[in-house]
Amino acid sequence: MRIASTSWPGAGLNRFTMAENESLEARGERAEQIKRRPELYKVCEGCESIVVAEAATCPNCHGYRFDFSSVRVRSQADILGKRLPTSVPPSELM
Ligand SMILES: [Zn+2]
Repeated sequence: MRIASTSWPGAGLNRFTMAENESLEARGERAEQIKRRPELYKVCEGCESIVVAEAATCPNCHGYRFDFSSVRVRSQADILGKRLPTSVPPSELM
């Protein structure tokens, strides 16, 4: 970070940080909702997305194999709730 950024009009960039926090919070809240009613969801076997139970195919990868178990849905919700939207798998940072 440059020191000049404090006097730069674009210091409003802080708002992006706040928005990110909000969206992470929103994700956590969504994860909580999923964990409360895991029977309404299923986990895609192809990409591990959480999908609503009535979806015929995965909207993300168009897979049609799902894991309906509440245990799996809950653990996946935990993972998704904690992961930042922009995160990269550690293996790709090597
Ligand atoms: Zn999928």
